[in-house]
Parts: sequence; C-alpha cells; structure tokens
Amino acid sequence: MRADMYEVSQYVSGSWQPGASGRRLTVLSPVDDSPVTEVAISSEDDVAAAVATARAASLEWAATAPAARAAALHAAADAVAAAADELAEIMTAEMGKPVGGARESIMAGVGTLRQYAELGPTHRGRTLAGDSAAIDLMAYEPRGVVAVITPWNDPVAVSCGLLGAALATGNVVIYKPSERTPATGWRLAQLLAEHFPAGVFSLLNGDGPVGAALAASAVDVVAQVGSTATGRSIAAACARTGAKALLENGGSDPVIVDAGVDPAWAASQVALGAFVNSGQICVAVERVYVHRDVAGAFLEALENEAEQWESRIGPMVDRRMRDAVDEQVQQAVKEGARVLRGGTAPAGPGAFYPPTVLADCTHDMAVVREETFGPVAAVVTVDSFSSALSLAADSPYGLAASVLTTSMSNAQLAWRRLPAGTVKVNNVFGGAPGGAAHPRRGSGQGFGYGPELLDEMTAMKAVHIEAPPQGW
Ligand code: NAD
Repeated sequence: MRADMYEVSQYVSGSWQPGASGRRLTVLSPVDDSPVTEVAISSEDDVAAAVATARAASLEWAATAPAARAAALHAAADAVAAAADELAEIMTAEMGKPVGGARESIMAGVGTLRQYAELGPTHRGRTLAGDSAAIDLMAYEPRGVVAVITPWNDPVAVSCGLLGAALATGNVVIYKPSERTPATGWRLAQLLAEHFPAGVFSLLNGDGPVGAALAASAVDVVAQVGSTATGRSIAAACARTGAKALLENGGSDPVIVDAGVDPAWAASQVALGAFVNSGQICVAVERVYVHRDVAGAFLEALENEAEQWESRIGPMVDRRMRDAVDEQVQQAVKEGARVLRGGTAPAGPGAFYPPTVLADCTHDMAVVREETFGPVAAVVTVDSFSSALSLAADSPYGLAASVLTTSMSNAQLAWRRLPAGTVKVNNVFGGAPGGAAHPRRGSGQGFGYGPELLDEMTAMKAVHIEAPPQGW
C-alpha cells in the first residue's frame, strides 16, 4: 500500500476497526488510475453487531431532549465545516469532481445539517378535540434504527441530509457510504460520530452485498439514495422485514426548449444541466425536446457551450461508468444521432469523457429513455410544445423536469402535466435550499430533503385521552 493512500475503517460498537469479511476493495483515481483508498469490507457479523449496538442506544437517544440533539448536530456541522478543505481533497481524489465544486457541495451538506438542527426541535404533532372531556394527540416519535445507504456522486451533501434528518428526530443511524467514495464517507463519519453518544452513529464499509445485508437486517428504516435497480432490491428486502423504504433514485430528466426563447440562454441552461459534475447528478438534464422554430440556433449555441465546458469538467467517476455512457452514445449514433461535439472517449489513463452534444435523437433511443450518468445532452427536435410535453411525460422515471419558455400558459401546462416530483420553469437547477423532493415512478418513493424528510423519519402516534369519569 502507498503511504499516502487512505485506509478506511468501520465504526461499530464504539470502536474504529477494519471490517472483518476478509474481502478488500481498492478505489482507483479517476484521473490516473493510481490507487487512492483501501477498504477492509464489513462482514455480515459486523452488520449484525452494528444493528445490535444501534438498537441498544436507540431508546436513550429517542428520550434525549430535541434541543440537546440539535446542539450535538450543530457541533457536528461545525466539525465538518472546519474540515471542509480536507474533505474536499478526499472527495476529489476519489470521484474526480474539481475541488472548488467539491468544497461547495460539502458546505451545502453543512447547511443541511444546520437546517435539521434548527428544524428538529420545532417538528411538532397536532391535537384534535373530541367532546369536552376528550382530546386526541398526534405525536411524532422516532422510528428507531435508520440505515443510511448513499451514492458517490454528491457523497457529503446527500449523506448529511439523511443523517441530519434521522438524528435530529431521535433516530440512531447506521451509515454505509458508497464503495466508490469510502474515504470521503469514513472521514465524514469520523467528524460526525464523536458528537453523539456511543451507539448512536455506526459506520459500515463496502459494496452492494454489505448494503444488501444491512437492508435485510432488523432496522426500522432503510433510507437509500442511488440507482433505481438498487432501490428496487431494497424495496423488496423491506417488504420482507417490514422496514420502511425511503428511496431517492435515478432519473432521465427532460428539458423542454420552447419556441420564442433566446437560444443562447437556453443553450447555456442546457449545458449547465447536462455537463456540471460531468453529468453525474440525479437531476442532470438528460434529454432535450427543442421546438423546431429555435432548433437550429439552439444547437449551434449548445455546440459552442460544450466547447467551453471542455476545460471546466473533471473526469467521470470510473471507467465502468464511462464505458456505459459511451456505449449509449455509440448506439445512438448507429441509430441515426448526429454528434455535434464530443462523443469519443479519449485514449490514455483515467475516466475522462468530453461534453457531448447529440442532435437528431429520437425518443426511443436508450440515450433518451434511460438514465445517462455522464456529460451528454441528447436533443430531440419537435414540432409543437404539446408534442414536447407528451414525450417528456413518457418515461419510466419521475424525478424532475424543466421547461424554458416565455409563455405563462405553457409554463402552467408543463407543471400540471409533467409527472415528475419537481418541475422547474426557466432554470434547470434552482430550488430553494431546504426544498423537498418527492420522486415518482422508477425515481423512488418518499420525501428526500426538506422539512418533510423529518416526517418520513418519524412515525405518528395517535393518543386518545379522556378525563376520568365523575366520582373517581
Ligand atoms: P448505486 O445504487 O450503485 O449505489 C448506491 C448505494 O447503494 C451504495 O452505497 C451501494 O453500495 C449500495 N448498494 C448497491 N447495491 C445494493 C443492494 N443490493 N442493496 C443495498 N445497497 C446496495 O448508485 P450509485 O452508482 O452510487 O449512484 C448513482 C445513482 O444515484 C444514479 O442513478 C443517480 O441518479 C442516483 N442519485 C439519486 C439522487 C436523488 O436524490 N434522487 C441523488 C444522487 C444520486
């Protein structure tokens, strides 16, 4: 092992130790293929021990005053903020995001931890009067043990959301970060865990089988952000154990470019949506339906945008992901798509892929129908806004969608008709910090993010109280 490599340990039963499975994994740099991180993978016994420890700690943490839980979360957020530079360096080394963007996303995670620290103590139930001698209370209670299983593409911010909401509401957590960013997850866990009582925070390391063992164990919630295929297998595991599955999964987000918009502005929006983080964002722009009236000018502007993005993006996370994206691009080309920019994986080390613009795509191509987790804008030209709407709506996913339009009535039609959890008008990203998301279809189930995530992490108890009868 190289001296400057990260050696990742797990945190189970209050001690940092290597995973006991005997299996190891090595993360390679997406820039030059050199080894970055070594992981001793957690065993099934480690999973069982983490669950037992968490269960034993859960009652006391649930009974801890919400303000005290919030104070611990604030202290944890301060620790992550103080280590943001170091954490950004690890994230960049493992998954390739340029370090400035990595730092920004870590600070977004810190913001989320703080938000949940503030919101936790104000998360309240309701009352309902019966007759004059009776009242019903509806009180939120923590669900118990929450397994938090996360992806690599925004590893700190996504983890902070689920961990923060679970901890603020009095749950204990078992965290299993992605096998692509284990050192990022391990360092984050180190920064967070010390602010909570023993057993409240555990860390397991490893790949799909470790996640699957955790999802099948006696936990109360499995909160997962990741691919649709993984989400489906977690839902099946939860159906067997009775745990609640909270799933934020993949998407194939459309953007509609309406007639009458400034084509240069629309191209800059689409390029941002398709290329930032090398297209590896759940709500990245994946398919573009452009009105024929503006298609020519828009495509020309998008080609220029792609050229400018070439010097701004980092590599993709690894060769496997890059090859999958390249395969979708090559298949689209065989089926008649025209490459305006990019479209070829460069020779040499690492997992680089250029910003790619495909024109003349059709709605049935895999690059349009499936999630393409890379820097690719697949453009379909349409004859009317209504045909753009029907094509955009026809998808196995339902994560988010955008419409770029100067028409208020088309904006209204779009948000009403598009079957996605989030619809954005005139911005491909945006959305207030702390906003909720509620994916549909293959994109998951339950609220991820926002104050509503506190509801997901808790169970509502109905209590009926009557005054004692006269004469007691
Ligand atoms: P992934 O599903 O391969 O892995 C996610 C996590 O699940 C990892 O920790 C992994 O080890 C674990 N896992 C894998 N197989 C498992 C199994 N059978 N049981 C339990 N756990 C298992 O996803 P990824 O490649 O890390 O992330 C990219 C995906 O995440 C994309 O599809 C992206 O759209 C999605 N994503 C969604 C959101 C959102 O908010 N909707 C946010 C970020 C990423």
